[in-house]
Amino acid sequence: MQTLEAVNAIVNTIKNNIEKIGRQLRIIEVCGTHTVSIYRNGFHTLFKGYIDFISGPGCPVCVTHEGYIDNLIELAKMNYTIYTFGDLLKVPGKNMSLAEAKAEGAKIKIMYSPVDAVENISADEEAIIAAVGFETTVPAFALSLEKVLEKDLKNVKFACELKTIDQPLKVLLKDHIKVDGLILPGHVATILGVDGFKFVEEFKLPSVISGFEKYDILFSLLSLTQSILNNDFTVKNEYKRVVKKEGNTVAKRYIERFFERTDAYFRGLGLIEGGGLRLKSEYSAFSVQLKYEYESLFNSACRCTDVLTGKLKPFECPLFEKVCTPQTPKGACMVSQEGSCNAYFRYGKWK
Ligand code: SF4
Repeated sequence: MQTLEAVNAIVNTIKNNIEKIGRQLRIIEVCGTHTVSIYRNGFHTLFKGYIDFISGPGCPVCVTHEGYIDNLIELAKMNYTIYTFGDLLKVPGKNMSLAEAKAEGAKIKIMYSPVDAVENISADEEAIIAAVGFETTVPAFALSLEKVLEKDLKNVKFACELKTIDQPLKVLLKDHIKVDGLILPGHVATILGVDGFKFVEEFKLPSVISGFEKYDILFSLLSLTQSILNNDFTVKNEYKRVVKKEGNTVAKRYIERFFERTDAYFRGLGLIEGGGLRLKSEYSAFSVQLKYEYESLFNSACRCTDVLTGKLKPFECPLFEKVCTPQTPKGACMVSQEGSCNAYFRYGKWK
């Protein structure tokens, strides 16, 4: 537990650092969990005028194409049972969400983990597991496939929309956004390690791997502002209690055993070479082929694409709060608990 004096001292040092730098900093938090922590703890108001926090593309639900939802609904209509994490349920597809399809009788079940889902799939159902997430979640899907193989199940497939964090970050930093520094996702770093983010140094941008508690964020901002002040581009690790230099080697081996890189669509960034993971060819019998038009999303009135690339704050979207709320979401950034629109709605003193 930090004393109030100690906390004030850290806050003042961060502000002093920024005053020495001489401008308001644009800092991107790559991960949606950080977005929520920043707004829930009021850091956007505490550092108002000092730091402009920008949300990145690290919320897996937010970057998923609506066509993926349509694919799952079509598969459900073909009598497959879809197993999905609950946060995907309310994401709008072209005509409806999975929740609405479920209300109309489609066989859609919520899973708490893909391993549990495999345990619970009955012999008489043809099951499809919706595999969505970044490297943090991929090992769980690898474990579930291992279980499918052990049990010799022939009635389980995976609809893979899995993402990697490095490629979209490279595209974002190269083509879309100018920032002074990055708060890097602690849970992805748990798997990939500090080594997995060394590529950020090539962009000559200071960065810090951070945990998610308020003190984690404060110490990370302290570290990051010091790095910016010193032009230090080394990736710093302020989540040492969890993140190792080399990451989780067992989990990485699991990922490599079952998955390989593929191109993947990211809302806001488009199709990114090597931005996703698919099952290796020897496991293709367990993979569902997905089809959708990448461009179809861009006609939507929802401005998630701009929010996810730091061009627009959620409250600048004309639909925000008026039409689009967590109860009536018009886009994935409002659906997901980790979405920036949802975080702004719940915690943001945005005006
Ligand atoms: Fe999309 Fe709603 Fe966010 Fe606007 S407020 S960008 S409609 S999710």
